[in-house]
Amino acid sequence: MIYLDNAATTRVCEEAKNAALQGFETFGNPSSLHHLGVVAEGVIDEARGVLAGSLGVKEKEVFFTSCATESSNTVIFGAARAYGKRRKKIITTTIEHPSVAEPIRVLEEQGFEVVRVSPGEDGKITPESITRHVDKNTLLVSVMYVNNETGYILPADKIFKAVKRISPETVCHCDCVQSFMKLPFKVKELGADCISLSGHKLHAPKGVGALYIRSGVRILPLLCGGGQESGQRSGTENVSLISALAAAVKRLEPTIMQRYETVAALKKRLTDRLAGREGIHINSGDDCSPYVISIAAERIKSETMLHFLESKGIYVSSGSACSKGKKSGVLSELKVADKYLDSTIRVSLCAENTEEDIDAFVQAFIEGQESLAKIR
Ligand code: PLP
Repeated sequence: MIYLDNAATTRVCEEAKNAALQGFETFGNPSSLHHLGVVAEGVIDEARGVLAGSLGVKEKEVFFTSCATESSNTVIFGAARAYGKRRKKIITTTIEHPSVAEPIRVLEEQGFEVVRVSPGEDGKITPESITRHVDKNTLLVSVMYVNNETGYILPADKIFKAVKRISPETVCHCDCVQSFMKLPFKVKELGADCISLSGHKLHAPKGVGALYIRSGVRILPLLCGGGQESGQRSGTENVSLISALAAAVKRLEPTIMQRYETVAALKKRLTDRLAGREGIHINSGDDCSPYVISIAAERIKSETMLHFLESKGIYVSSGSACSKGKKSGVLSELKVADKYLDSTIRVSLCAENTEEDIDAFVQAFIEGQESLAKIR
């Protein structure tokens, strides 16, 4: 099997697996006052320390959630509940993941004014395109760091800094799901007040995520109850998966640059081999995150190519996994030509992929392009 769908989810690493299993043994409730509870609480504290260290933030600013979708929903609805009486405008982009786009749409239905900024003709979002809408009424700016469909890297740091210069009180949120542990960054340099993270995109299991909220920013909780996670996210903590998330971060953090270079070389190998071939178009430019490569074989439906590759034991996505075969609005927003929209597949890498994986993919993709064109 050749797995090239790492933007959808990743294989759980040994370290995370072992930490999860160990976590099941640590079965006490972290809120219990007895020894078993204290041990479980210690596991969570340690994990929080790992996450805080990797983000360059205080431990009390990190909260564990069930997934990035929950993290982003918490920020968007929680900011609206905390500040929405006075400020009614939300600014975002047209290329956000549904976990951000949908809660914002719900707030729009409830009367918030939403400005969705499209990339320019060059497929890029500029800080000015966002800041021209910022005013004293702006509640929230939510901009992702790396787009999950093409790997496009947004100038999120420049955007947040520019927003803060105009309106320091505006909450700046960043979906860092496709950048955390892939690009080297610290929250301070990024300048976001809140960021969303997901475990299963970085070799931890599904069902665990994290949320950073800068001290002093008020985000009312989505889940209320026993007051766990300092009241920010009630519900008994998932000790096992939280521990696994921290183990994956511990494993990946020292090698962010090394893995980036490995993956960048794999992307180059893939694009060099396909460049110039008639009917093949690489949607992801050289300035995109190398972890995501969006490619189209003209006139061959994404799903047809996906299943052809699958028949060769190669796993990719059509556009993005979340769009489940639906035509991607994000790709057209990113100025991918109409003729490629239905034919785009997403190859997403991790550092465990090899040159042989890439060569097998290229060979199968070309074979697919040639044989499927005949039977269309
Ligand atoms: N944001 C981005 C950019 C993603 O790629 C994904 C998952 O595909 C998510 C958010 C949602 O993450 P989760 O599955 O942890 O809710």
